[in-house]
Amino acid sequence: MPGVTAFVYHDDYQKYQFGPNHPFQPIRERLTLDLLKSLGAFNGKAKLFEPRPAREEDLLLAHKEEYVSFVKRMSRLGLGYLEFPDTPVSLGIYDGAISVVGGTIYASDLVMRGEVAHAFNPGGGLHHAKPRTAAGFCVFNDIVIAVRHIQRDYGIKRIAILDIDGHHGDGTQLMLYREPILKIDFHRYGDFFYPGTGSVDEIGDDGGKGYTINIPLPFGTGDEAFLYAFDQVAVPLLRAFQPEIIIQQFGVDAHYGDPLVGLALTTKAYETIASKIHALSHELSDGRLVILGGGGYDPPSVARCWAIMFVTISEVEPQDRERYSKIFDAYQPEESPSSFEAVKATVKRIKEVIFPIHGIG
Ligand SMILES: [Zn+2]
Ligand SMILES: [Zn+2]
Repeated sequence: MPGVTAFVYHDDYQKYQFGPNHPFQPIRERLTLDLLKSLGAFNGKAKLFEPRPAREEDLLLAHKEEYVSFVKRMSRLGLGYLEFPDTPVSLGIYDGAISVVGGTIYASDLVMRGEVAHAFNPGGGLHHAKPRTAAGFCVFNDIVIAVRHIQRDYGIKRIAILDIDGHHGDGTQLMLYREPILKIDFHRYGDFFYPGTGSVDEIGDDGGKGYTINIPLPFGTGDEAFLYAFDQVAVPLLRAFQPEIIIQQFGVDAHYGDPLVGLALTTKAYETIASKIHALSHELSDGRLVILGGGGYDPPSVARCWAIMFVTISEVEPQDRERYSKIFDAYQPEESPSSFEAVKATVKRIKEVIFPIHGIG
């Protein structure tokens, strides 16, 4: 399908930072943009869009007023913690946070108004933030804000959220647990790994029962097991759900080079995931696909993963194919047979418990 894919970015995203020694470094977003420019990606099919910051009323779609005021106050002070010990305060963090949230709202608007086919906001995907607290480097939960914004302004009901970050999207799950919004979340789980939630038995409650789908992955899970679970679980559930829009949190800290997570995906898996979700968006939701960033703590690897994803969903032809092929990983980590067995057991359980709720035989 023709149509432009938006890369949504503002230099104010660089203010979303927690200090020079913190693992979260917004330079990765700038690096992704630079890499795409150097590949000649912005050649008609892809375009750069600059968002406005979110307004306070947008933040209140997912957060309590006292918390928003607290972040503002701390941001002027520039000292202490929003949440101890992961999420320290930095001077101007509020401005950075409303800039990246504004990017997600703008990406949603561009897609919903049909101005672009797909949109990527590398500053978004802050899935740990909760109504009254920051958590895990996330100040405001732009995913839930986007869901509320889309529901309110466009009357859309069937929203699917796919989260492939190496960590469980606990903030998103918490806020949407009782609602029939499809949430499929792949993440490392077990051995006290952060944040500790996201077991296969957390399936939602009330009207949301069966709409929370967790795919916990053991340490060392690689491409083959991940893509197996993706094909077996995410694809049939999305087809059964028939979303009107797909929001994908595309954190890339499950990459084998990531210093924090301990999963073992490669660029090839990220290309495959992007290609599948892109095809599903055209099949199911008229192409409406909003992709957000998320984790990723080795900035050069993050830039490569996101650039590959963006080239794939926008279907741009890189000017220099040979140079493009060189940004893929040359190395393929060994997959552990025991982690594949564990993933197979999880998939089996989801098919038994969740699939009947969606009428999948
Ligand atoms: Zn497309
Ligand atoms: Zn993460």
